[in-house]
Amino acid sequence: YVAKEFKSGAVIFEPEEHVTAPSRLTVLGDLRRALEGAGELFLNYQPKYTLDGERIEGLEALLRWRHPVHGLIPPDDFIPAAEGTGIILRLTEHVLDLALAQMRCWMDAGHGVPVAVNLSTRCLLDVGLPELVRRLLTAHRVPAELLRLEVTESAVMGDAARSMEVLQRLHDLGVKLSIDDFGTGYTSMAHLRRLPVDELKIDRSFVLGMISTAHDAVLVRTAVDLGHNLGLTVVAEGVEGAEHVAALRDLGCDIAQGYHYARPMGGEQMSELLDRVGTIHDGSMPVV
Ligand code: C2E
Ligand code: MG
Ligand code: MG
Ligand code: MG
Repeated sequence: YVAKEFKSGAVIFEPEEHVTAPSRLTVLGDLRRALEGAGELFLNYQPKYTLDGERIEGLEALLRWRHPVHGLIPPDDFIPAAEGTGIILRLTEHVLDLALAQMRCWMDAGHGVPVAVNLSTRCLLDVGLPELVRRLLTAHRVPAELLRLEVTESAVMGDAARSMEVLQRLHDLGVKLSIDDFGTGYTSMAHLRRLPVDELKIDRSFVLGMISTAHDAVLVRTAVDLGHNLGLTVVAEGVEGAEHVAALRDLGCDIAQGYHYARPMGGEQMSELLDRVGTIHDGSMPVV
């Protein structure tokens, strides 16, 4: 909901959709323009916490668009449109560039903190992606091990041979890979075992439902066990309450991310959080 303030001091609330309803074509045109300029597209960062000691293990970069007319547009409202076109590749390059520049700043401040960037399905079909990633890592002087790329199950299932090759080459660079929104798509166990990933993120819909719904609880337990049996780190997304934290800890889940810990925040605010609480890697990760 968007607050509209009147001169009288009265404030009314309107559903955000009423204010923000640009058509798909407008979105794409405006997105092209935003990619040329500076500042409209920026990243927020959300911390991921270890469930044993509740310390920061890494961050996820989440794209935001401050549109000059429509205001703040969430990624779910423009990424699907971009995915249908080649713009998604330029958008991904832009996001990687922003994230790596920020990572370099954090490294200079003593925080070699891993940051995850989300990849669209379309990007995994681009055989030029690994070279792009390598070039950007070098340009920003960030070790590949600090970069994590999140892909969804559907991304990997589409053109399995091609996406597997792209994933393998990214993995060979030393970049860490995660399966995002696990449980919402369909990945056979045989396929999952062959993927060069090392982290599995359980979709937030199951995590949100795990306290009240027996089925969701079973799914979360199954995902944790499956991940661990494959040697993967298991992350729960959308952790909103202390009761979720307790239940996830009982199940042996490794990492948690969600509003219970922190909402996504700007880079400056994240710098303050990192300075204040540090990360599990401080002192042990390469800060070159
Ligand atoms: P995702 O990768 O699964 O990201 C997690 C989403 O859950 C984020 O929404 C985050 O703000 C939200 N979230 C985190 N904790 C909680 C919680 O406790 N409760 C609830 N209800 N939500 C929580 P956001 O930032 O709106 O992003 C939505 C999706 O857009 C992402 O889902 C990702 O698929 C996509 N996305 C975001 N940034 C990028 C990007 O740079 N590139 C691409 N290709 N996709 C992106
Ligand atoms: Mg993600
Ligand atoms: Mg997710
Ligand atoms: Mg998602």
